[in-house]
Amino acid sequence: MPQFDYPCPDCRATNSLHDVDCRFEGTPWPAVEKAYVDVVARLTAGPVSADDLESNVHGDWDNLHRAALQRLERDGRVSEANGVLRLLTAEEFREEVSEPTAEPMKTIYRRGSVPGCHDNAVFAMIAWYEMVGLSWSETREKVVSWLEESGTWSRGGFEEATPAQLVDSKRHVYEAGYGWKEKAQSAKRVIDRHH
Ligand SMILES: [Zn+2]
Repeated sequence: MPQFDYPCPDCRATNSLHDVDCRFEGTPWPAVEKAYVDVVARLTAGPVSADDLESNVHGDWDNLHRAALQRLERDGRVSEANGVLRLLTAEEFREEVSEPTAEPMKTIYRRGSVPGCHDNAVFAMIAWYEMVGLSWSETREKVVSWLEESGTWSRGGFEEATPAQLVDSKRHVYEAGYGWKEKAQSAKRVIDRHH
């Protein structure tokens, strides 16, 4: 199955398997990619007001463009201040995504994992950083510090001797580019019950 660099603006699928309720199911991928490229190309030239962005792709601005822009904003690629949109630099983006701010990742990130959902939580953290575009070494570093700083590691329940060993044993999750959503949701349910 072909993979795409840009996620579906609605369900984040990167192949033709959309979520059941996705509103872009069946939309041709070239149309999805064109919407992203239109938005990103204009923003690469510099900050722009939302109105100017829309009129810049005049005639073509549609729901797909709107959704692509929203996806870029929600994923921390684009910031908006006083009606002006700006593409974050690679450095700013890495900073931005190091702290997931949307559920269910927010709960996992802030509260840490608890025994009973470690596998799902670690899987979700790795898959999420892969999805937002971090390299393996960046992902590894982020997940190791999350294990330590969130208190996850000290709660125990791991076979590996160190956080780094644990993360290394899950590298296949990063390589395969699995989705994070289902694992994150079930981990969050366990963490919520635990608190
Ligand atoms: Zn979709």
